[in-house]
Amino acid sequence: MPAINPAHRLPNVVDPATDTVAVDLECRRCGYNLRTQHEQSVCPECGSPVGLSTRGNFLQYANPEWVAKVAKGLQIVFWMIIVEIALSVCFGNTITPIAPVIDVLTTIINVFGVWLMTEPDPSGIGEEKNVSARKIVRISAVLAAASVALDNALETGSAALPDTFVALLTIIGIATVLAQLAAFIARYTYFAIIARRIPNEALVVRSMMIQKSMIIFMLVAIVAAIISELAGSAADIALIFFLPVAIGALIFGIMTIVLIYRLQVAVTNEANAARVNWAADTYQSPPPMPPTAPPPTDARAASLH
Ligand SMILES: [Zn+2]
Repeated sequence: MPAINPAHRLPNVVDPATDTVAVDLECRRCGYNLRTQHEQSVCPECGSPVGLSTRGNFLQYANPEWVAKVAKGLQIVFWMIIVEIALSVCFGNTITPIAPVIDVLTTIINVFGVWLMTEPDPSGIGEEKNVSARKIVRISAVLAAASVALDNALETGSAALPDTFVALLTIIGIATVLAQLAAFIARYTYFAIIARRIPNEALVVRSMMIQKSMIIFMLVAIVAAIISELAGSAADIALIFFLPVAIGALIFGIMTIVLIYRLQVAVTNEANAARVNWAADTYQSPPPMPPTAPPPTDARAASLH
């Protein structure tokens, strides 16, 4: 095992007098109760080092397969942002026959990325009972995909659909937009939770700062929309509001891309560290006692001559 950072050890879990687990503590790999086990020993059930479970919820001590999934998800989300920017620069708003296909394809890949990124920690660490940032982000990604599919279905066959069905789809569409707003905010909370487990306080602070700024910009945008609606033709009033909002959205959009980039690099590193830490064979069990019987003296004497 690599050297243990004392700051990484869970408080009041290990009895300092005996170095044994003093509380009910689930093995991070198999869930076995590790109470009374020595911290430098291995889980009697699955053989993983007890030390992996007595440390804090840092990614480098978490299930490496799970950390790798989160890292992969972050990578996909990052690259899909780049791809979508590239697509909008190349095609803009021009209607091409393949546009719906690209739309569906990028959505599916993005949902796959978000799904991996928000995979629950198999240890159950960090899971709240009911609603969590992780679940909001995950569910809304699926809703967004459903919405894209519905939009495409509506555009191709809305004439054939009964009015009540179209109304129902509209309600689903509005619900999806609201879910997207919730997810948009929750995503930064989730990023902060992940960053705290690196631990990378700079990324935690950055996530929360962008989140707060984005909320303020959204509120200003809503106010601007209401004012411009009420003012009717007074376009310059809207401009006064919308211009700073647009600039802010651009700045914090770029900051978000940089944040996700740094997060995916850091989590990929943690996945590699977790793989090393988790591998049972990195645990060096105490060497077996050396044979107590000395070699036969006559043999040694024979070899000397
Ligand atoms: Zn175990």
